[in-house]
Order: sequence, then structure tokens, then C-alpha cells
Amino acid sequence: MSKIAFKAESKRLLEMMINSIYTQREIFLRELISNASDAIDKIYYKALTDDSLVFNKDNYFIKITADKSSRTLTITDTGIGMTREELENNLGVIAKSGSLAFKQENEAKEGHNIIGQFGVGFYSAFMVADKVVVTSRALGSSEAYRWESEGAEGYTIEPAAKEEIGTEIVMTIKPNTEDDQYDEFLEPYRLKAIVKKYSDFIRYPIKMDFETQKPKEGADNEFDQVIEEQTVNSMVPIWRKNKSELTDADYENFYFEKRYGFDKPIKHIHISADGAVVYNAILFIPERTPFDYYTKEYEKGLELYSNGVLIMDKCADLLPDYFSFVKGMVDSEDLSLNISRELLQHDRQLKLIAKNIKNKIKSSLISLLKDEREQYEQFYESFGRQLKFGVYGDYGMHKDDLQDLLLFYSSTEKKLVSLDEYVSRMPEDQKFIYYATGGSIDRIEKLPQTEIVADKGYEMLYFTDDIDEFAIKALNTYKDKSFKSVSSGDLGIEADEKDKADDAEENGTKELFEGMKAILEGKVKSVKASKRLKSHPVCLSAEGEVSIEMEKILKAMPNGQDVQADKVLEINVNHEVFNTLKSAQAADPEKLKLYTNLLYNQALLIEGLPIQDPVAFTNDICKVMV
Ligand code: ADP
Repeated sequence: MSKIAFKAESKRLLEMMINSIYTQREIFLRELISNASDAIDKIYYKALTDDSLVFNKDNYFIKITADKSSRTLTITDTGIGMTREELENNLGVIAKSGSLAFKQENEAKEGHNIIGQFGVGFYSAFMVADKVVVTSRALGSSEAYRWESEGAEGYTIEPAAKEEIGTEIVMTIKPNTEDDQYDEFLEPYRLKAIVKKYSDFIRYPIKMDFETQKPKEGADNEFDQVIEEQTVNSMVPIWRKNKSELTDADYENFYFEKRYGFDKPIKHIHISADGAVVYNAILFIPERTPFDYYTKEYEKGLELYSNGVLIMDKCADLLPDYFSFVKGMVDSEDLSLNISRELLQHDRQLKLIAKNIKNKIKSSLISLLKDEREQYEQFYESFGRQLKFGVYGDYGMHKDDLQDLLLFYSSTEKKLVSLDEYVSRMPEDQKFIYYATGGSIDRIEKLPQTEIVADKGYEMLYFTDDIDEFAIKALNTYKDKSFKSVSSGDLGIEADEKDKADDAEENGTKELFEGMKAILEGKVKSVKASKRLKSHPVCLSAEGEVSIEMEKILKAMPNGQDVQADKVLEINVNHEVFNTLKSAQAADPEKLKLYTNLLYNQALLIEGLPIQDPVAFTNDICKVMV
């Protein structure tokens, strides 16, 4: 039988597994038990919903057997089994290729321990075994097949004999080395402890044989060695347990077990509801953004159980889009096992659960923000963008749910602040919530437009994310205060500069500005004396709804909407250059043209906008120099 090579990615992961100097090898057992349990879930569900299958709960179990003499550890399940094709497809390749990239990247970043933090699936068997043999017979099939592999070199598949439906995995445990002990994975008591630690809540019995001594009948002080089968897990699903019995570690284990994420969850929410609708739920707020989170491939949803039986892997209707990062499960007695996806969408119970869950998530996040700020900021770094999309999406329908969860960088606090914190600090004479937009905090800090607001001592929110300004436009107001861009027309600040600027308008400067506007030929809507500049000579601002930042973002979108901001070139009439402009106007129209173009291009640069003709710009600078 010739060997079939693993697909390249699988081979790399396998090598990683085999070579990992890895302190938590024991999790291979968790992974294999979890697979077995999933396989039983599948057959159990079929049996419950298909009358032609006989259903007897006692027929479903997982058995672990260790044999020291042959150094084999065997895990048998009575699950749905795999066909030849499934053996090939499931064990020969890694389905989600992106996850490998993620694993490797993080492996490199954080050392080897990361492997233990998330599901690595079937391949983890190679952390402890030299050879793995999987014999499986699928439900509805009279044939069985054996998949066999000794690691990265490849695998073979051939027909085999197997009486029962289900899967048997025989691992030949590695020999001990100077540094590593593998014998422990052949010790029943050690194995039992591992099962207890990671897989206690598995709903099917995990059975093991133990040698015990029984008093010999009729003889005193003599004993018989007997083998006794024990069920080692308590089988109570964690969501049915009392919160007070559970520790953070139990929840974290469950998260890893279930492969909800690669990270350590920031918070768990355990709900036992027995009001209008009865259900249990365990929800998690992950710490990090899954690698595919902001892509179309990401599927939101919670696992849905009906009275302990898994009926759907990812029930999307249970989560609003803006909380799509939440992981976890819901179990309800009020849902029918046979319910179809289409009917489920209209199910009243499900809608009630979804609403309930949404409110719980919201209140949990609010309390995280209040009580564990650092944790919240970590969360916000990962998923804040999603919340902002949520404010903006659906025509702002969800803004009331989300506005108190938003954070923005504050110019005065030099850290992230909530809108509530901002508003509660506003001096009485401050009319607006001011914000400035730009590519980074550093860049915004240097924007000339921020000068007057900063001078006045008002706090500004810095928007560095594409979505920020759009979200704020959807919000419109917060606690009756409206938002104001520092680049917008009327800042609502009475400054001394104002009078001078107004004077400038009158004292024949109008003509100068009209002339400059003509030189710029449709590039700006107007040229004005600035009421916001203090030390800088020039800046751009926008009139109307579309800001310059929004223009940039809309232009960068794939379907390239050509929306233009109405740009205004603002000139600081207190700056030296203003006098230069005036003398040029009187003496030399060519000079005025040169200076106007220079100033305009400078303003573009400050805004982070492209200069249409960089060569002409540098030539202009040279003209000034010589
Ligand atoms: P994951 O469980 O994350 O999908 P694995 O590598 O652990 O990744 O398993 C790949 C697939 O192989 C599973 O999704 C399942 O379809 C199948 N599989 C693994 N173990 C078993 C088993 N004991 N019984 C039936 N199918 C299994």
C-alpha cells in the first residue's frame, strides 16, 4: 500500500506538533474526546429525529484503554463514524487553512505554549504518539476503513473489519527520552485526572478500566485482581451547573474544549433564565480578533442545544451583527429538536432568547467598562471597530444600545475616554463635542485646525479609524450635545481672532481671496480668512456634510464613490505670509499665483491628501529659493 502525502499545510502543522517542546501535551486527550463527543452528538441527534433508528442512550459512550505492554492508548467511540472519503478529507487535510497561519504567527510571537491554548484537533495525537491508527465505520455503511500514519511522511487508507458503528483510535505512545516522559499517558490514574480536568462535562460516559483488588471469597486476607469499568466524568454539562460551583478555570476550559477561540476569553456570561422562556447559556467575550473576523468568511452564531442535544453549530439569529464576536452556546427546553432553519427564524422563543442575550451582553460590557477598564480597553482594541459599525449600520437603529460602549482617544486625557466621560467634563460655555480626524494620533495632534479648540482648553476626540466619523454622524448627538469637527465652518468659539478676520474680509482682502480662488480653478469652494489658525499660515476645511476625511474614505472604497467635500482654503491673516500675499497681489500677479499654489499644496499635505502634480510643487519651491 503506497503512502499518500499530506497536503502541504497539514504537513507543516504535523511537524509543529511532533517537534513542539511542549508542556501541555496532555491536551491531546481533550481534543480526541471532544471529537468523539461531537461524533456521538451527530448520531444521537439522528437517532432522536429519525424513527428508523433505534435509540438507546446506553449505547453511546467513549472508552479509553491503555496497554503498557504494547505501549498503546486506545480511544473508542460509538459516534457516527467516518467513510473512506471522510477519513481522507478530515484527517488528510486541514479544513481551515487560515488557522494554520494564525497558529504559526502566534507560535513565533509567544513561544510554544500557545498550542495548549486552543484546539489543534486530531493532529495533537502526534504530540504523544509515533503512530496513529484510526479504524472507523460510518453509520449506514457495511464497510470499515483503517487510516494509518507515522507522522509527517504521509498516511495509508485500506479496508478493515469493524463490528460496530463508530471510531477507534489506537496511538502508539512515544518512548521516554532523557527529557520527556511519555509513560504517564499509559497510566490509568493519570489519564483519569486529565479527563476530569478537561472533559468532565462531556455528556456521554467516558469509561476506563481500573484494576482493583476484591477480597477472595471464602479466604481471609486474600485478594483477587479484578478489572472494573468506571465512568470517569461527571457528565453534567457545565451550563447546567450552579454558577457558584464553577471557577474561571472551568469556563476557560470549556472555551478551549469547545474551540470557541484561540485566545483566553476576557469575560464569560453564564445565564440561567427561567422567566418567559427557559434556557441556559454560556457566552464568552473573546480577547482577540479572530484572523478572519473582518472578512466575509467569518460566521457569527451560537451553538444551539435543545434540551442537551446539539441542533445547530452556529445559530446566527441569536446574535445581532454588532455583537458577532460573542462565542458560546444556548440550551433550551422550549425548542423543538426537529425545527428547521427556516422555522427557527420565526420562532417566538428563539426571538425572546436572542433579545435577552443581547441585553445581557450589553450590560456585561457596560460593567466591564465600569469595573475593569483595562480589560475593556483590550476588548475594545479587538472589537471596538465592530461596535462603531454597529452604530452606523441599519440607519443608526442600534445607536442607543451601543453609544455608551464607544471609546475615543482624548486630546486632554491622552487616553481612551467614553462619550459620557467627555460630556460630564464639558465646561458650561462649551457647546459642542469636538473631534478631529486623521491617520494617527500623532498626525492629528499636529493639525493646524486643532489649534483654536486646544487653545480654548476644550477636549477633543481624535478619530483615527475610517468608520469613526461615519458612526458619529449616525449618532448625531450624545446627551443632547452635537458633534463638531474642528475643520468645520462654525466652531461655536468666540475668539479674538474673529474680529481681525472679519476686518480682513472688509479691508479689500476680499479681492485678494477672490483672486486666489480663481488661481485655484475649482479646487476650492472659497478662500477665507481663518478664524481658527493661530501659528500656522494655512489649512483646509470643509463646508457642508461631507468632510475631507470622509471624502478620502469614500474615494478609497472598492466601488470608488466620487464624493467631493466642499473645500475651503483658510489663510491666517496674522501670519507673515499674509503680508507677502498682499504685496504680491499689488506688485506681481505671477508671484501671487506661485504663492497661492504653494499654500494650497501645503494645506493638502497637512491633510494627508495627495498633491496632484508633485513635480510642479517642487519646481515652485525651487522658484522661491533662487
Ligand atoms: P475539528 O474537530 O476542529 O474539525 P479535527 O482535526 O479534530 O478538527 O477533526 C477533523 C474532522 O474529522 C472533524 O471535524 C470530524 O468531522 C472528523 N473526526 C475526527 N474525529 C472523529 C471521530 N472520532 N468520529 C467521527 N469523526 C471524526
